[in-house]
Amino acid sequence: MTEPVAANDFIRDIIRRDNEQGTYGGRVQTRFPPEPNGYLHIGHAKAITVDFGTAEDFGGSCNLRLDDTNPDTEETEFVESILADIAWLGFHPAQVLHASDYFGQLYAWAEYLVGNGLAYVDDQDTETISAQRGGFGKPGIDSPYRTRTPEENLDLLRRMKAGEFADGAKVLRAKIDMNHENMALRDPVMYRIRHSHHFRTGDEWCIYPTYDWAHGQSDAIEGVTHSICTLEFDTHRPLYDWYLSQLPLPGDQPKQIEFARLEFTHTVTSKRRLAKLVADGTVDGWDDPRMPTLSGLRRRGYPARAIRAFCTEIGTTRTNSRQNIEALEAFVRRELNTTAQRRMAVLHPLRLVIDNWPTDASGAPVVEYFEVTNNPENAADGTREVAFSGELWIEADDFAEVPPPKFFRLSVGREVRLRGAYLVTATGVEKDADGNLVAVHATYDPATRGGDAPDGRKVKSTMHWVSAAHATDIAVALYERLFTAAVPGEATGEPLDDLNPASREVVAGKAEAALSEAAPGQVVQFERLGYFAADPDAPGLFHRTVGLRDEWAAIQRRQG
Ligand code: ATP
Ligand code: MG
Repeated sequence: MTEPVAANDFIRDIIRRDNEQGTYGGRVQTRFPPEPNGYLHIGHAKAITVDFGTAEDFGGSCNLRLDDTNPDTEETEFVESILADIAWLGFHPAQVLHASDYFGQLYAWAEYLVGNGLAYVDDQDTETISAQRGGFGKPGIDSPYRTRTPEENLDLLRRMKAGEFADGAKVLRAKIDMNHENMALRDPVMYRIRHSHHFRTGDEWCIYPTYDWAHGQSDAIEGVTHSICTLEFDTHRPLYDWYLSQLPLPGDQPKQIEFARLEFTHTVTSKRRLAKLVADGTVDGWDDPRMPTLSGLRRRGYPARAIRAFCTEIGTTRTNSRQNIEALEAFVRRELNTTAQRRMAVLHPLRLVIDNWPTDASGAPVVEYFEVTNNPENAADGTREVAFSGELWIEADDFAEVPPPKFFRLSVGREVRLRGAYLVTATGVEKDADGNLVAVHATYDPATRGGDAPDGRKVKSTMHWVSAAHATDIAVALYERLFTAAVPGEATGEPLDDLNPASREVVAGKAEAALSEAAPGQVVQFERLGYFAADPDAPGLFHRTVGLRDEWAAIQRRQG
């Protein structure tokens, strides 16, 4: 699989134009600004590829800025996971920075705006303020505190900062225009009082800046040129520009550019909702392989390269849409096809006894070894030896006592190929006292070693197998969609209503001995079954990454 070609999109066009006009002296600096209140998800991978990839294309730099302005939801654990996930994706922040490092400068600038009559302290509660904001075609109502003098406002702001007032007792608002057609400019809140412990600044602050007040100013402090974010901030751009144009900035005024979020069918990318799944135990944690988090996808076996390639390939636009999750899976499958070694494993084991298998002088069944290719897509992966003997495990659904029409696999009286080994013919079944099938009996043809008959006779089916005496026990987690609906929440408005109650089934399987040596996190192809990732922590546990069938190709054919 080749690295994707360099992207071309409207963001790069804007930067090219800025460079031609010398707007930022040819400098390109971006940032990726997650709030450390959860783990990164697949949507963030898109933002990361855009932020880092764009800067890289222009020889610029991209910083990671932890947007830690909300002390109640942020934690060091989240910061660490964010750093690990970005590195795993293959990107390297030029610097790791924190919005909380700018609390002092932001506060100084707030006093500056107050001094210029451009901000005031409002004693009303949140509900009142939001009711007075009005709506589209409905003018706002001035707060009775809007006419406070700069001196009075400065005194109150300092006392807010000093901790004199309770949470919610006052806010600082920008004084812009209560009749502005853009609601974002109807005197937005800049500071709220929160007597909360912050994971970095501790108890130093009891007033915290809002997103709008912190974001553009942080960009300016860092020297960001192009501040790329998602479309929901589109209407905030005039406010972003307003704040910056009122302040004595140390350098150029950065520019906000918005693009459409990445969303997938059968997937929820909202940290708040993902946090709920973790908190109420619906999943085993942020890195549960069913989660659309980068740590979940990593545990599931998704290669970072496939995620990056997908994000680049779909391009960057200003039109919101939902991608088919099958399209991402196709990228994963394509990448794993070239990188994953092949192994044989049986997920629902059924015993196959070869009655004419020879024994040695001591009466023990003979063991033969077959040399098989590890990866037909990559000769460098070499070969391995697989043991074969008179008792094997085969897949339960590869045998039918009463074969339905078009069933070409094993049934009594029929001959099939055991992959790379011999042709065998089923001769009968063995049942327990309750009538349950416990084994299938068969004979093999010694002349078919390697899997082909010297007389050229054909069989209709080739099946995988595992020698019972050499098998290693594995636990295999089989996953279905975490959300049954293509658009979770479409019917009720609440995505979590569409949770699939049966998104995971764990089965006890049997695998060839080589699988006991799988490295933590290694992804292998179980022949005929799909790609499976060795759990990074629990030996013998495998997660189904994705099946072999290209459902995306089928969807595209249907869509013509
Ligand atoms: P969430 O709603 O999941 O909490 P968020 O936007 O609040 O997402 P942040 O941590 O604030 O999450 O986001 C960091 C950056 O990632 C922002 O620039 C944001 O626009 C971007 N981002 C978040 N979700 C997506 C997505 N689904 N697709 C593309 N970019 C995204
Ligand atoms: Mg956010």
